[in-house]
Amino acid sequence: MRFVSSPPPSAPALRPPTQSLQFTLEHLRSCRVIGQCDRRWIAIMSPHGPASTLLSMIDQHAADERLRKAAVLSAIYAGGRFAFGAPPEPGAWGRDANLAYRLSAGDGGFRAGDAVATISEEQRREFEARRAVIQNDYGWDAAVEAGVLSIKTYPVVCHAHMTADVLLRFLADPDRCPFRTSIDRHSCRYAVMFNTALSHAQMASMVRNLGQVDNWQTCAHGRPTVVPIRIVERG
Ligand SMILES: [Zn+2]
Repeated sequence: MRFVSSPPPSAPALRPPTQSLQFTLEHLRSCRVIGQCDRRWIAIMSPHGPASTLLSMIDQHAADERLRKAAVLSAIYAGGRFAFGAPPEPGAWGRDANLAYRLSAGDGGFRAGDAVATISEEQRREFEARRAVIQNDYGWDAAVEAGVLSIKTYPVVCHAHMTADVLLRFLADPDRCPFRTSIDRHSCRYAVMFNTALSHAQMASMVRNLGQVDNWQTCAHGRPTVVPIRIVERG
């Protein structure tokens, strides 16, 4: 097969935007949901000046991911520290319950009382040395008996997305633990995916909630949640 090059059809020149569009929190909080595009985007209109509105698109996956991360973080850091307590019954957890986490066998999580690892004498000593900090600041407590580490208490959200391996690294060095990365991954995994139809009510609540969280501009990984498209003159 041979490709014959031909001159491109004449097309109107694309003009660069005359002004750069800025999307603000005010735009987000005052917007109206128009509808869903391509099962990916939520089209919104925000008041913008006396006679115009701003049309923008919200990435449904990125927005939901941000909301889920915010929910996990607020559960963990409630009151400036990890929240103690037993997790809710597994049946009460679910994707639709608007919880950012859920219990499932595939998550590799564990429960209080589980023996999670065999640890060396050196690891045991490290753990004992950090025990008070780990318990007071992070809400964890563990018992070590005959070289086996078992969990007594833990932050409510952790068993869904912290594996025994992550826990051991956490005990060794709480500040450098991949826990944060784990939260990001988890938020992404359970966020509403592209090609998912959303009702108007679902979109409206997602947009409303997005206006209430920190770092609403991006998903947990830094992808933008909102793209302003153009200013539409009224009338
Ligand atoms: Zn994601």
